[in-house]
Amino acid sequence: MVDSGCIFCSIVRGEVPCYKVYEDGDVIAFLDIEPISEGHTLVVPKRHCSDIYDIPDDLLCKVMTAARKIAMEYRSSLGAKAVNLLNASGMEAGQSVFHFHVHVVPAYDYMKNRISFRHDASAKSNIEKTQKRINGEVL
Ligand code: AMP
Ligand code: ZN
Repeated sequence: MVDSGCIFCSIVRGEVPCYKVYEDGDVIAFLDIEPISEGHTLVVPKRHCSDIYDIPDDLLCKVMTAARKIAMEYRSSLGAKAVNLLNASGMEAGQSVFHFHVHVVPAYDYMKNRISFRHDASAKSNIEKTQKRINGEVL
């Protein structure tokens, strides 16, 4: 249930300080120490799950419910106009802390912290084949 080398488990156990903004029986949320906007928050299950592939559905629902509650609350407390919810699952996706978490990133100014993606031309040219692979129609 806990991972002794995990920084977020240490926060859950109260061994490492955090700027806590929310807590219930299953979920804790605290401010990211490297915020990309004011109120950038990490919503974390108290039980150690490494990523989206690992977390059970019912716990994921609890994390997302808390994330939405927090996002809605930041409209009044912080004056947020909008929000990005983000999760990286796996090293290749940029995950750096391997305890599942959802980033709640409040947005205040039009497109200031827009997440931008570079389009992949080969993914686009293969799109029909990709759909077939996903649907099991080609290898
Ligand atoms: P990710 O790269 O998606 O795994 O996100 C991990 C996030 O955790 C980063 O944005 C870090 O700034 C943040 N972080 C790491 N350690 C702490 C900590 N002790 N307290 C708060 N945020 C942390
Ligand atoms: Zn952990």
